[in-house]
Amino acid sequence: MLSRRVDHFVESVIRDMTRLSIKHNAINLAQGFPDFPAPPELKRAAASAIMDDYNQYSITWGAKDLRDEISRKASEYNHIEADPESEITVTCGATEAMMASMLAIINEGDEVVVFEPFYENYGPDAAVSGAIPRLVPLNEDNSIDEEALSSAFNKKTRALILNTPNNPCGKVFTKRELKLIADLCIEHDVTVVTDEIYEYILYDNKKHVSIGSLDGMGDRTITISGFSKTYSVTGWRIGYALAEKNLTSAIRKVHDFLTVGAPAPLQHACASALRFPDSYYEELAKMYDGKRKLLYNALIKAGFKCMMPEGAYYILADIPEGIDMDDMAFARYMVSEVGVAAVPGSSFFRSEAGKHKLRFTFSKKDETLMEAARRLEGLSI
Ligand code: PLP
Repeated sequence: MLSRRVDHFVESVIRDMTRLSIKHNAINLAQGFPDFPAPPELKRAAASAIMDDYNQYSITWGAKDLRDEISRKASEYNHIEADPESEITVTCGATEAMMASMLAIINEGDEVVVFEPFYENYGPDAAVSGAIPRLVPLNEDNSIDEEALSSAFNKKTRALILNTPNNPCGKVFTKRELKLIADLCIEHDVTVVTDEIYEYILYDNKKHVSIGSLDGMGDRTITISGFSKTYSVTGWRIGYALAEKNLTSAIRKVHDFLTVGAPAPLQHACASALRFPDSYYEELAKMYDGKRKLLYNALIKAGFKCMMPEGAYYILADIPEGIDMDDMAFARYMVSEVGVAAVPGSSFFRSEAGKHKLRFTFSKKDETLMEAARRLEGLSI
């Protein structure tokens, strides 16, 4: 007998596409992880931490040096003041931070507002925590449908999940949009749980704004981020949640019994990552800007219709006209016949809209993207 809880979701399609990609020797533009090395100084810091014997459990809610650095970074970059002693929890990735936060604040039957398209983990996060997702589709141009958003709120609304910069559509929410969301959350006494894992990957002078920094939002926002994407270490599994102390105390309880703590030596290395100079972040965004253009041009040339993302490292593309396959069939065809793996759009939508889309990542070496571009040319012949 299995629990009803696990009946509500299937295994990750993204990770499934990675397995298929390996089987067919395809280029994996499905899963968002870099195929290039992590910064050497960060690797050295991790190796030193192990040699210096940071090898036992750290404090369950995170090593002190890391919490101190996160607190400084949150103040300087996110304009959020978080006390390292009582308002920061270091977790096993943003993934655990999101799940622990949901388990900490949701009661069975509570509603959670989520924009569509959404990152595929939020469905299972809701199912495991007992939440009912209330999806609010973004407009075609990724702007907010204000009427749909305000009508999603009701007496049962407990939380809203906000992912900016957004995976999969690349939207960066503007301050005006965040203010609109904040006003609704204050009016309906709703907690915002953010996913800001791509906070440094922005293009065309877009600015990252944390909703937790807006007036009236400090005590009702759980701000989540992590090291996976900014420092190209998705396998390290270090993330964190910032929240007012009552919320943090609840998150820490869940976190302690779920995982005890994040990997201790890697936490020490991550503290050093937060001391990187500003130029590191400028270079990172510049590097991804080049990759974004490379993949965008290749997709347009192959007949896909897509928008340039404003942030993060994905392109959500419409399947070329004349292809008579849905997203699942076409993704399988692409991986086995074209040799490029992408994620079927329906992983990010509950509506039919996803059936005509695929998501590609450009978090890969230029040569990987150029080879993918070469293979994609086969589609338009
Ligand atoms: N949140 C979003 C929006 C993501 O795209 C991803 C990874 O693809 C994650 C969270 C996972 O973050 P972490 O590796 O810190 O668990």
